Amino acid sequence: MNAVARPATRTDALAALAAVRPPVRVVAERDELAAFEMDAYIQRRQTPLAAVLPDTEEQVLQIVGSLGRLGVPIVTRGAGTGISGGATPTADGVMLVLTRMRAILSVDAAARLATVEPGVPNAQVTVAAEPVRLYFAPDPSSQVISSIGGNVAENAGGVHCLKYGLTVHNVAGLRVIDGDGDLLEVGGEGLDSPGYDILAVMNGSEGNLGVVTRATLRLLPRPEATETMLAAFDTTKAGAEAVSAIIGAGVIPAAIEMMDRVVIDACERYMALGLPKAEALLLVEVDGGAEETAETLASVKAILASCGATEVRVAKGEEERANLWKSRKGAFAALATVMPDYYTMDGTIPRRALPEVLESIYALGREYGMVIGNVFHAGDGNMHPCIFYDSAKAGDLERSEELGGKILELCIDHGGTITGEHGVGIEKLKAMCLQFRDGEIAAFHDVKRAFDPEGILNPGKAVPTLKRCAEWGGLHVHGGRMPRPDIPRF
Ligand SMILES: Cc1cc2nc3c(=O)[nH]c(=O)nc-3n(C[C@H](O)[C@H](O)[C@H](O)COP(=O)(O)OP(=O)(O)OC[C@H]3O[C@@H](n4cnc5c(N)ncnc54)[C@H](O)[C@@H]3O)c2cc1C
Repeated sequence: MNAVARPATRTDALAALAAVRPPVRVVAERDELAAFEMDAYIQRRQTPLAAVLPDTEEQVLQIVGSLGRLGVPIVTRGAGTGISGGATPTADGVMLVLTRMRAILSVDAAARLATVEPGVPNAQVTVAAEPVRLYFAPDPSSQVISSIGGNVAENAGGVHCLKYGLTVHNVAGLRVIDGDGDLLEVGGEGLDSPGYDILAVMNGSEGNLGVVTRATLRLLPRPEATETMLAAFDTTKAGAEAVSAIIGAGVIPAAIEMMDRVVIDACERYMALGLPKAEALLLVEVDGGAEETAETLASVKAILASCGATEVRVAKGEEERANLWKSRKGAFAALATVMPDYYTMDGTIPRRALPEVLESIYALGREYGMVIGNVFHAGDGNMHPCIFYDSAKAGDLERSEELGGKILELCIDHGGTITGEHGVGIEKLKAMCLQFRDGEIAAFHDVKRAFDPEGILNPGKAVPTLKRCAEWGGLHVHGGRMPRPDIPRF
């Protein structure tokens, strides 16, 4: 692709969008652009140069091709529920908004596959598959609105990914337009496909390597039986130890979610669900064949009791199950009753480290004088500490961000990672410098260049430059690099 000699202007970009055939919806007025100024990482906002809302893959091809030739940055956006700023605009770039591409193209019961456009909300895939008694397993809490394109780009998880895997494990194939404007078909319908595994590379690539224009998703049969239980504990440590005890016993529940007292109290204030008085609650769901599920339920109940659960409630029927899940699903909304502003972190640790890391998180909260509530996917060690701050108080947001950074360091120190499911975006660029060595960061940039040589797709997101890492490294308590043994990761 030939770069233009002079930097493209707003007029050039708008002319390129006006030339798309058939004509495409373009938003260029400042007040209308307010809708695209930020995603769910509300700490940062920026007005983009324009937004374009295509209806077809052919239009996306023209848009990426013509903006690419002009060197105009493109930030792809699905539903804008991302929490790490992946869809935060750039001032000189165009938002490519895919929410109008929301057709379910096919549901193939025999192959157990659904092919959909990228703007389809996650939950709609299951709605479409219901008549043939199939469903799409990845279930981020945002699933009613978050789009399949955004789920793929963030490799979204959900409460049931402990047993059924992340988005990457449930996607068979993709159509992707890369930074050169070429249409790539990756993956397929089988378990394996020839060539490099570009399908895996695209999952979690945060809009940096290509624009997903179509996804073929794996569907699963509904389990014959499901049992859901709530277990109360006097200490978070006991609750956290029960998580390892369940998995250590060879049981893989469909979900193990945990919430601490800050969150339990908030849920009670907000929803008055009659939750047990406890320091920690575990919500455990088991599913499968009827006999197997009954056996697993009995084993889990016994393990919970041996780990000191003060109460175990098993849902009798769908209504009670929905009620148990209501606390978990409504928890983030309920947190607004603690303080209107909170910053949700996302890091992953090995399960065995849960008790220790939770204690350290509370200690950090005390050190910073900030309240932290925990509601998270305990079964897969994916933590979501929520740090409460007051946006009206000078410096409070910055302190919460600093504290969040310390929590991510804790995750790395315990052999974990700086993100579980929310991605890096702009929020965790600094933390990437701690997680990875220079060689690894350089390899990520090499991958980016292979798909997007001119760097027009979501520039400045997900992977920091080595220069920024060097600048930030000097400031850091670890001297900029974690003292890890020199084991190649690739
Ligand atoms: C209340 C709430 C609960 C949440 N719960 C969960 C959860 O349980 N699990 C979880 O994993 N996440 C969760 N999230 C985060 C978020 O919903 C997910 O990351 C989701 O996958 C984002 O989808 P989206 O359509 O909103 O994407 P956006 O926010 O629009 O974009 C996210 C990223 O994907 C890129 N992108 C979007 N569409 C495409 C495309 N078609 N092609 C290429 N790149 C694209 C964007 O450039 C950006 O980098 C939650 C968010 C909220 C607000």
